[in-house]
Amino acid sequence: ACPTWQNTKGSQILRRRNATVHVVIIGAGLIGLSIAYALTRRNASVTVLERRKTAAAGTSGASFAWVNASAKTDNKAYFLLNWAGLQAHERLAEELGNDAWLHRVGNMEWVSPDSLPVLSARVDYASTMGYDAQLVPAATLNAELNLPLPLDPDYPVAWFPREAWVDVPLLAQILTTTIVQHGGTIRTASQVNAITQQGSRVTGVTLTDDQWLAADAVVNAAGPDAHRIAQMVGRQLPLRPEPGLLLSLAVDSMELPCIVHTPEINLRPDGEGRLLLHHQSVDRTLGDELDLAPDAPPCRELRERAQRLFPALVAATSLRAAIGIRPIPADGYPCVGQAPELDGYFEAITHSGITLGPVLGDLLGEEILSRRVDPLLAPFRPNRF
Ligand SMILES: Cc1cc2nc3c(=O)[nH]c(=O)nc-3n(C[C@H](O)[C@H](O)[C@H](O)COP(=O)(O)OP(=O)(O)OC[C@H]3O[C@@H](n4cnc5c(N)ncnc54)[C@H](O)[C@@H]3O)c2cc1C
Repeated sequence: ACPTWQNTKGSQILRRRNATVHVVIIGAGLIGLSIAYALTRRNASVTVLERRKTAAAGTSGASFAWVNASAKTDNKAYFLLNWAGLQAHERLAEELGNDAWLHRVGNMEWVSPDSLPVLSARVDYASTMGYDAQLVPAATLNAELNLPLPLDPDYPVAWFPREAWVDVPLLAQILTTTIVQHGGTIRTASQVNAITQQGSRVTGVTLTDDQWLAADAVVNAAGPDAHRIAQMVGRQLPLRPEPGLLLSLAVDSMELPCIVHTPEINLRPDGEGRLLLHHQSVDRTLGDELDLAPDAPPCRELRERAQRLFPALVAATSLRAAIGIRPIPADGYPCVGQAPELDGYFEAITHSGITLGPVLGDLLGEEILSRRVDPLLAPFRPNRF
């Protein structure tokens, strides 16, 4: 196959030749599926290999899945990428003609009095950049959302009306169907154990059953296992994986109208009659155990905190606890693009991968086929490791 990126002529030729570019993507989390979707839309031939039995059963299936840029205001390039991420979700919903997976409910956040200057600076920064963000008195938000928050009426609360949460299993299902309709292949229970090379060029991958698949490009979208895939091409990819706990509750007695971030507990709706709880301070207490019962001490801690905020939750039932491992490159920022000195080997590893999935899919899909690096990705290249 003649790789498209050797072609510098017009887009018609690019389109015709795209059909001959075969890309193997390792990992069917939201990142791998988003790249596969973007590539099949551009007529590339794509095979996604997933070692688990189903797609989105790794970190993507154990995520708070809040789409935002408001928590990323301390780095302009990262803020802009995440903002583009939010907009890419909105575009994707239109493209798919289906937005059942994208819950555009908005996000509210309040902090302790000593953290107010930081929250206020974040809101100022975001709104100066044109992002929908405001500080409003608690009473105004309580009245608008019919949410009885235990705060002084004048206490400032941040409100980000365009932020959303994603039903990841549903989106993964829709993407999987669409990728296959566009001619792509998704193979589950297929673990990659080697990447083959000829000189400095990637030629394919080998599965654990010794089957070899040829590829013009291989994408490492293996989430928290990405460093193992990188080792297959002799590359050190430093990750600092962090576990995070989510507790799902069944609740008849109350409906949450939006995502809620507080100093003690974060909550969001999780489909009809369900809420999802998370807090980073509880994550820091987790040990090595990755399977927790819904009544294990860290889960009880989440529940008690949520009940202190919303006493009606005393009647809720704890349904399921899930621990996900955040795939975080060592400096905390995404690692996206072709790795140095290895033609055809690309990486796409990031925290905030739910926010960033569709935008990274789009930008990396384009880069794989055209070899052009989008300016949004320039600060996040693999060559910094
Ligand atoms: C508690 C928690 C809360 C979070 N909250 C948010 C949030 O609010 N907003 C947000 O944007 N992000 C959030 N994140 C982060 C986000 O969930 C992740 O960044 C994202 O899911 C990463 O997706 P991924 O596709 O890279 O990884 P994964 O979903 O883990 O997918 C990687 C896949 O690769 C497969 N794989 C690995 N090795 C191989 C191999 N050798 N062969 C074949 N397949 C292989 C794995 O089985 C896995 O399915 C959160 C994460 C956690 C844990």
